[in-house]
Amino acid sequence: MADIIQLLPDHVANQIAAGEVVQRPASVVKELLENAIDANATIIKLLIKDAGKTLVQVIDNGVGMSVTDARLSFERHATSKIRSADDLFQLHTKGFRGEALASIAAIAHVELKSKQEHDDVGTQIVIEGSEVTSQEVIVTPKGTSIAVKNLFFNIPARRNFLKSNPVELRHIIDEFHRVALAHPNIDFVMYHNGSEVFNLPECNYRQRIVNIFGSKTNEKLVPVNEETEVLKVSGFVGKPEYAKKTRGEQFFFVNQRFIKSAYLNHAINAAFEGLLKDGTHASYFLNLEVNPQTIDINIHPTKTEIKFDDEQTLYAILRASVKHSLGQFSIAPVLDFDRDSNLDTPYNYKDKNASFPTVEVDSTFNPFKEEKTMRSGVKTAFRKEPVASWESLYVGLESKGTKSPNDFSELQFESEEQTSDMFSDDKDAEAIQNTYQLHNKYIISNIKSGMLMINQHRAHQRVLYEDFLKQITIKESVSQQLLFPVEAHFSPEEVEIIKDVRDDLEHTGFVFSNFTKDVIEITGVPINVPASEVSLIFEQLIADIQNEVPESNFSATDLLAKSMAKSLAIKIGQSLTAKEQDHLVNSLFGCKEPNISPANKPTFITLSMDELDRKFI
Ligand code: ADP
Ligand code: MG
Repeated sequence: MADIIQLLPDHVANQIAAGEVVQRPASVVKELLENAIDANATIIKLLIKDAGKTLVQVIDNGVGMSVTDARLSFERHATSKIRSADDLFQLHTKGFRGEALASIAAIAHVELKSKQEHDDVGTQIVIEGSEVTSQEVIVTPKGTSIAVKNLFFNIPARRNFLKSNPVELRHIIDEFHRVALAHPNIDFVMYHNGSEVFNLPECNYRQRIVNIFGSKTNEKLVPVNEETEVLKVSGFVGKPEYAKKTRGEQFFFVNQRFIKSAYLNHAINAAFEGLLKDGTHASYFLNLEVNPQTIDINIHPTKTEIKFDDEQTLYAILRASVKHSLGQFSIAPVLDFDRDSNLDTPYNYKDKNASFPTVEVDSTFNPFKEEKTMRSGVKTAFRKEPVASWESLYVGLESKGTKSPNDFSELQFESEEQTSDMFSDDKDAEAIQNTYQLHNKYIISNIKSGMLMINQHRAHQRVLYEDFLKQITIKESVSQQLLFPVEAHFSPEEVEIIKDVRDDLEHTGFVFSNFTKDVIEITGVPINVPASEVSLIFEQLIADIQNEVPESNFSATDLLAKSMAKSLAIKIGQSLTAKEQDHLVNSLFGCKEPNISPANKPTFITLSMDELDRKFI
């Protein structure tokens, strides 16, 4: 039989390999920014059009390329950064594979301009799908500009696979943040569709964080600094009371490279133990410096995971240094009773000068108080203010309360007369007790066929959800004016998210008086929404929008109604009076779809007398 194996032509091989490096426009952004940093640029500009689908361009003032290098840079495995396998363990650059430009050129239209400092003229090269279509001598400033247009133009399937512009832009911004945070000494500017999104002048690390995440961030940061033989940690953690519902602001950099590590994240959580409210995540911006020989970056094509030689030691050091900082800034108890000495670091002090012992006195320490009390001082900051009156729990229930439960055809409630007989001598009861609350979680009620168990949190979510949806679509909401406007502080990116749904929010009853880059001022709230809840509602909303998979019938209105219902619904664990229970049951069965929560989970179950009787056999 004839031989059938052939070598793939270069451009096909490149296209296949490109899949590893370039998943989306954000991957191009990452590679180009990293190349600019490796070229020692001090000013880097990122220009994006249509969330990177039309254009990703990076302009730097770095060392530039010679004519030959400019041409060679697009060849696969062409790199100036390593020469032998040994160099892999001495990496001081972001790139080293020599694959990025070759991959990008295989699947896009690329235009490169570059000039080295001492050359009079530069080089321009245009490549389309790995084919060089032109090479010219041009006049251009020192440095390099690479424009990547029409990504995936020759792979329609990949192009169609891209997500909506807001999602792709978010990925780009994430990459931009990571690179900009790792290099505060470099000046970064980012434009999207011609308007400036970020302008980050060279500054210190703290200032860089604040410039990216908003001026309010400054007061949230607690510095972390620790130096041992194996690891140097520097950076900041967020104070526990500012912990977020999303994991958005969690950054580890190892030797100025952003990495993801569930293990090290766990170390931070361990340091915050007992200080965070359930379901919230501490922010952190931590730089770890280790000897490049003790890490292996080569295991992941996009290089966000790395392997450490001695992860356990890093874990212990990291946990101890964050705990130390939280303690030092009086955020955690200074006396750390539950410290697990097994995890303590083998700190190596042999090179350090001996210092005189000092005595640390915690003036607030009272041996007769339980340790807990010190912590609870911290915790109270999280506790939500008690809601003024039970009515406010029932935002928007009024209109539905008047509907007869009989509207709900499948279930028939027992008539009041029958039950009232049983309770008739209980004259003091607020109402005739048709319901019973079980463990502050379920409401139990009689129905003709047996019994009904309602999940109070989900039921109330359904009621609120339908109500908000109605308000948004019919635009019939009522607002209450706030005596003092509420100022909510967010990152510029988060403010943009809120702006996108501003109209819908106004239809629920919110009144906005001012939007700045990172502050939203609110002067009116939907009736019965307590002003103290406003920040929480917005935080939840931002988290929900960020976590939404937008291509799945994304509807901002629906999401908003769901998110607000989730924030405002009565919680599990909340005790309800008979009247409140009754009100909730009636309102639920006044809904269009009473049997499922907005998240499609059952709101109630029924147990028939038959089923019950069978259990007694
Ligand atoms: P790698 O970064 O892994 O070396 P790339 O494909 O990203 O591979 O780049 C190939 C080579 O092109 C680099 O090693 C570098 O020499 C050169 N290069 C790429 N971008 C720039 C830039 N912005 N400035 C100067 N040289 C660059
Ligand atoms: Mg590179």
